[in-house]
Amino acid sequence: MSILPALSARHVDHRSYPVGVAYMDGQYLPMAEAKISILDYGFLHSDATYDVAHVWKGNFFRLDDHLERFCRGMEQLHMSVPYDKEQMREILHNCVALSGLKDAYVEFICTRGTSPTFSRDPRDAENRFIAFAIPFGSVANEEQQKRGLNLAVTDILRIPPASLDPTVKNYHWLDMVRALYAGYAIEADSAVLVDQEGNLSEGPGFNIFVVRDGEILTPKGSVLHGITRQTIFDICSGQDIRCEQQSIPVDALKAADEVFITSTAGGVMAVTRLGGQAVGDGMIGTITQRITKCYWDMHTDARYASTVRYPDIA
Ligand code: PLP
Repeated sequence: MSILPALSARHVDHRSYPVGVAYMDGQYLPMAEAKISILDYGFLHSDATYDVAHVWKGNFFRLDDHLERFCRGMEQLHMSVPYDKEQMREILHNCVALSGLKDAYVEFICTRGTSPTFSRDPRDAENRFIAFAIPFGSVANEEQQKRGLNLAVTDILRIPPASLDPTVKNYHWLDMVRALYAGYAIEADSAVLVDQEGNLSEGPGFNIFVVRDGEILTPKGSVLHGITRQTIFDICSGQDIRCEQQSIPVDALKAADEVFITSTAGGVMAVTRLGGQAVGDGMIGTITQRITKCYWDMHTDARYASTVRYPDIA
């Protein structure tokens, strides 16, 4: 008798998944059914690029900018998919419309894919496009948003630009996961990493901003050019607030009046403690509040918003 379990036994996945809709290989699927091959180099080597947009109250925010960044990333990584930007836009709209979600986290991915011979040559692989829409998620949970985050300032080095272009959105996250655990060890909610010179870099899924004497600074190098980061530049130029990108020594955080982080997953999120120590008076600052309001107001501005057409349900 064979000790192997019957190969024909039907596999049952007992894990549970968020609700939502995915698109793979020409089909729209419930999230629980969206699976990739374990031979996909996106999985085996983190050989992939991706982007995340969000839908808020039925509107995509800056979808063109996300698609632009995604296509640039694919080009840098010598990847291509059989869809142009218009077709990708339609797929993303369809995922959200079919999910019925009014507030959604919408991720789209290009993986290196697989080759029939498991060749090590990335040129032999057939790249794969995947997209999905699940309920809106945030770097900070509701309670953290209300009181402001407690952020650990770590000396963990973000993978340097000389190794990997940080402006190509990627899944090289082990440095950031390490920083998260370093943060949890001191009861922080999340953590920020440093660049090779020891200046501030970014954190798991966010860019960081430091406010001092009414002016705002954000790291220049060793970071993803976040779409939310760009939105902060746009808000500041409209509000006559000086906002610069430059190298920021970690010590500058100690002198900050306000600190906030930005991400498509959550928007603008105040940081009120750094490693347990209060930033300024420990309250969410007025500039952070003003910018947060502008950020959410922009979500109904036709220059940035595109409305999802949900199917009529009789
Ligand atoms: N930095 C990293 C490493 C990220 O993964 C993200 C978003 O996931 C960000 C910054 C923020 O970028 P965006 O504002 O485009 O969401």
